[in-house]
Amino acid sequence: MKNIILVVSAFLLVFTLSISGQTPEKPHVVILTTGGTIASRSDAPSLEGNALVQAVPQILDYASVRVEEIARTGSSRITPKIWLRLGKRINEIFSQDSTVSGVVVTHGTDTMEETAYYLNLVVKDDRPVVMVGSMRSANVISADGPSNLLQGVRVATKTHSKNRGVMIVMNDEINSARDAWKTDNQRVQTFRSTDHGVLGYADPDTVIFYRNPSHLHTINSVFQLDEVEILPEVPIVIDYAGFDGSTIIHWKDRNPAGIIVQTFAGGRMSSGALDGIRRATADGIPVVIASRVPGGRIPGSPPIAGTILARDLPAHKARVLLMVALADHSHKETLTSIFNQY
Ligand code: ASP
Repeated sequence: MKNIILVVSAFLLVFTLSISGQTPEKPHVVILTTGGTIASRSDAPSLEGNALVQAVPQILDYASVRVEEIARTGSSRITPKIWLRLGKRINEIFSQDSTVSGVVVTHGTDTMEETAYYLNLVVKDDRPVVMVGSMRSANVISADGPSNLLQGVRVATKTHSKNRGVMIVMNDEINSARDAWKTDNQRVQTFRSTDHGVLGYADPDTVIFYRNPSHLHTINSVFQLDEVEILPEVPIVIDYAGFDGSTIIHWKDRNPAGIIVQTFAGGRMSSGALDGIRRATADGIPVVIASRVPGGRIPGSPPIAGTILARDLPAHKARVLLMVALADHSHKETLTSIFNQY
């Protein structure tokens, strides 16, 4: 009986709104644009934020949207300054407007992993933040941008997308910001969460999730960077067969906040890297050891006392985590536990 009453009231609500010319209110989504191939046309200047969204009118079937342009650049030009701006703006939007159901960020795919993981660490809300991009520009046959944007907005409207951290939605797949790697230089199926698998799918009939992110993120993250103006300098140095360690020494002498060394499988390294890392840690510089191999993690304890293992994080994401952790000085002593949790 209760169910019948509910169905009848829902019917009456929709009926009343449609005869009065109104439609039931759609979820509100804010779209923040930064540029990238999704906004580009090979024969013309890149699309301004509103034009990008107007090209996909189907979005309005699912959401009412507001568009803000944060940047208009290829993602190889995205900088930590832009990460800070984006993170602060998203926190501002969520804290000022409880009617916003989620935020979509359009972004080039080349450094989407870094921006997505940064936001995963600093956004202080459980509402969905979805990154979308495209591999094909707007004017080519089978451009993937419109569909990715539409699916990203759909994911951002769903209450069951909450508390899943920042997500990358491309090619109908929903991947966790922490786990996704760009794996193909050209194909639309480029983001994969190698060992962990997708979080879910944006299918035509529904948005479905199969798992939650396994590491701390967003509202459970301890990092508070809204007052930070500049992120600390953390370079990445690459180990290779026959490396003499000179680039580590070069960086050590510049006294950066930390150094990431991308080494071989399992965190094994050349004797040059070993020597360079010993000298950097002796100077009190935090050194994180990452593996260049995409599958598995660096097991066990660090090969050099005082260093930190990135485990399964690639060097470019280990850099983001170290920058965020060192921006908040209270975390310098707990870096090992941070790298095990985030
Ligand atoms: N060049 C592009 C970028 O901004 C590539 C892309 O978006 O797919 O990253």
